[in-house]
Amino acid sequence: MKRSMVYLVGAGPGDPGLITVKGLECIKKADIIIYDYLVNVNLLKNARPDVEFIYVGKQGGAHTLEQEEINELIVKKALEDKIVTRLKGGDPYVFGRGGEEALVLRENRIPFEVVPGITAAIATPNYAGIPVTHRDCTSTFGLITGHEDPTKDESSIDWSKISTGIGTLAFYMGIKNLPYITEQLMKHGRSKDTPVAVIRWGTTSQQKTVVGTLCTIVQKAKDIKPPAITIVGEVVKLRDQLNWFETKPLFGKTIVVTRSREQASEFADKLYEYGAHVIEFPTIEIAKPDSIQPLDEAIKNIQTFNWLVFTSINGVDAFFQRLFELGKDIRELKGIKVCAIGPATEEGIKKYYIKVDCRPPKFVAESVVEELKKVTAIKGEKFLLPRADIARSFLPEELQKLGGKVTDLVAYKTVMAQPRDINLVDKIKNGEIHIVTFTSSSTVRNFLQIVGEKNTSAFNGHVQFASIGPITTQTAEEMGLRVDIKAKEYTIPGLVDAILESAAPK
Ligand code: SAH
Repeated sequence: MKRSMVYLVGAGPGDPGLITVKGLECIKKADIIIYDYLVNVNLLKNARPDVEFIYVGKQGGAHTLEQEEINELIVKKALEDKIVTRLKGGDPYVFGRGGEEALVLRENRIPFEVVPGITAAIATPNYAGIPVTHRDCTSTFGLITGHEDPTKDESSIDWSKISTGIGTLAFYMGIKNLPYITEQLMKHGRSKDTPVAVIRWGTTSQQKTVVGTLCTIVQKAKDIKPPAITIVGEVVKLRDQLNWFETKPLFGKTIVVTRSREQASEFADKLYEYGAHVIEFPTIEIAKPDSIQPLDEAIKNIQTFNWLVFTSINGVDAFFQRLFELGKDIRELKGIKVCAIGPATEEGIKKYYIKVDCRPPKFVAESVVEELKKVTAIKGEKFLLPRADIARSFLPEELQKLGGKVTDLVAYKTVMAQPRDINLVDKIKNGEIHIVTFTSSSTVRNFLQIVGEKNTSAFNGHVQFASIGPITTQTAEEMGLRVDIKAKEYTIPGLVDAILESAAPK
């Protein structure tokens, strides 16, 4: 059956949450995704694992492929009997050349659908606190290309009509021509005091807004580079009251998350919600232990244990995965009590429909022993601790001292991740990164190993380090880092709170 299909999809203006439900479905079902410079690459995470990605970004003058070549590529891929999702920034039909691509598909009799997207002229002023229409200011709104060659004899823009005939004007691709645009508007009767906003990378955590008037904006926005949109009109004044996005507590902060890829998203999402620009820089990868035999042995004899004690979510997942791999299920655990070090670990256990019998108020090993003492006699009880290869010895030793019979085994190991962003050190030294977060001692050690330990002292003062708890802090300090932000509650939400507190105006 022929299933050639092309979806021309508007990916929205930048914030990945601003794609349509239908657009997201098209990403999920694509065999091939052909995407542009303005598309937020985080959206691509929603694609199938076997999808083919083709980047055809046009950035200023540097074109990876010319438009004709892009058209040919879409046709060629679709004719291979594939579902092609062509992702474009904003809306495909607003200065996006989507019409040309659709016409080529029509010529080649390839079925297609076009999915609208939220265009930059509507979304980016919104995120800069500017409603594009407002009853008191304007009842008209125009979308204009600012890309026209000013030396062209005949302008296709009738400046005399748009300058005073439309209330709010949005110029796409108009940064290079900003002097020409403002001059034309004033020449054709728009007041020189008309408010203007230039918004770069709108709706993303890197958004930058500059505000002025028709006669001052060229000077004020001289350092702004594309992609940026220019909004002209009285509505710009509302920004003083409606600037909800740039006033988020972590807006303008770039924060590095060093956790393993599997665990990063919960933390990264929270920071992002508060407006931070998050760089995921995983320092840890989770792997199977060198020998799985001790875990297999423990699972085989699981009914001889009284307590299962988990000190990390990775330990939980490693244990249950192996239980299932061995053809068993949670019925094997009947009657065995379960202890979790903290709320995240508890959530991880609940995922397997198991209730936690003991969870200490403080999320460190010391507190686990204290809490266990309250709910059980330690002496003579058998404890199974499925943990990491590098877990601290405190907990098993302490339980043993109190007469417990402890099986402490390696359920998973942590290995150092391969560095992804090799420029991170330069970025830190240039002040482009504000906070580096550590969520365990191994994130500290691996981070320093990846970036090169000789850089340690150079970091202090350039960047703030944030730590999830006292053990992590101690490791960082021993390795020469100054920890400025310390979580009061030793959890991810606790760390987020500490970061928020440090960023709050003093
Ligand atoms: N189809 C797109 C526009 C493509 S033309 C849309 O509907 O939004 C490219 C221009 O769009 C850029 O030069 C810039 O003027 C504007 N633009 C797109 N995304 C933007 C963003 N996130 N912030 C500011 N301007 C943006």
